Amino acid sequence: MTGENMTDAEKEFLGSTDKNPSNILPKKLTLDSYLKFECHPGVSCFTACCHNIKIILTPYDILMLSTRLGIPAHKFITQYTQPTYLEKTDMPGVQIKLKEDTGGCPFVTPEGCTVYTDRPSACRYYPVGMADFHEGGKDDADEEKFFFLVKEPHCKGFDEDKEWVIGEWREDQGVDVRDEMNKEWLRLIMRRKSFGHQASLSEAAKRMFFMASTDLDSFRNFIFNSSFLDTYEIDEKTLQEIKEDDLALMHFSFTYLANTLFGAQGMKIKKEKLDEKIREIKDRQDESLKKAEQDYLELKAERERMLQEKK
Ligand code: SF4
Ligand code: SF4
Repeated sequence: MTGENMTDAEKEFLGSTDKNPSNILPKKLTLDSYLKFECHPGVSCFTACCHNIKIILTPYDILMLSTRLGIPAHKFITQYTQPTYLEKTDMPGVQIKLKEDTGGCPFVTPEGCTVYTDRPSACRYYPVGMADFHEGGKDDADEEKFFFLVKEPHCKGFDEDKEWVIGEWREDQGVDVRDEMNKEWLRLIMRRKSFGHQASLSEAAKRMFFMASTDLDSFRNFIFNSSFLDTYEIDEKTLQEIKEDDLALMHFSFTYLANTLFGAQGMKIKKEKLDEKIREIKDRQDESLKKAEQDYLELKAERERMLQEKK
């Protein structure tokens, strides 16, 4: 129900009640491995894991939750989240803002989660973590994945009798859909992480990443009301889709961010813009050539003057 399981990558980003690796059971599991677990209102620990937890929200989580609550993303962000850096990177993100008095998630009640069917990705994973050594590029990397159990000491769900195979559990929790929706975004963070501290992101790049990751309305506004469309070649079908469909816009934002932050393929700059850039560079080169020529002529004249004076 709540808490988390996650990929090695996701474990970094999607929140953890407990960073203690001793809670990870040292056994590699597959989609066909058995799991004995159930979380329901009858367990004595019910909602314990919705307190004092760090829940990082992905763009898809924010889209789902703000739609569920019927408020725009920017309002959701202000009301229910607080800023954070996505672990060990300088990429800004948000996590759920816990209640000051109880340390509880704002969506938890004694009866359980009030946004259950739209709960964040991090809340869906526990207790099945996934290690994914696939860093992007290839899609046929199933063999690089395996699963493991995270067993927190206070969690009584393991004492229940219900049995699953891991694949069933993941489907029941809607994890597969989340994996699909989050993977490109998570890869951006993994990519950033792999650069370490060698290069820092510009403030403008961080702002763009934050806006596109947390507020699709503002990102849409940026696309349609800035020089964006003068710069990039976007076909009509895509334009129509990203104008009307938030999911299409979200996926588009991942492609755009991968392109602007890491130079990945996927965005095409308009020919006129490219020509303009080339002209600018050439003009700059012409200018510096002219300047070098002028400097040379002045030095030469100076030298000749000195020679004349010596005579
Ligand atoms: S969103 Fe729901 S499941 Fe997740 S911590 Fe909050 S109350 Fe618990
Ligand atoms: S059984 Fe585990 S997952 Fe369910 S409420 Fe208790 S601690 Fe959370």
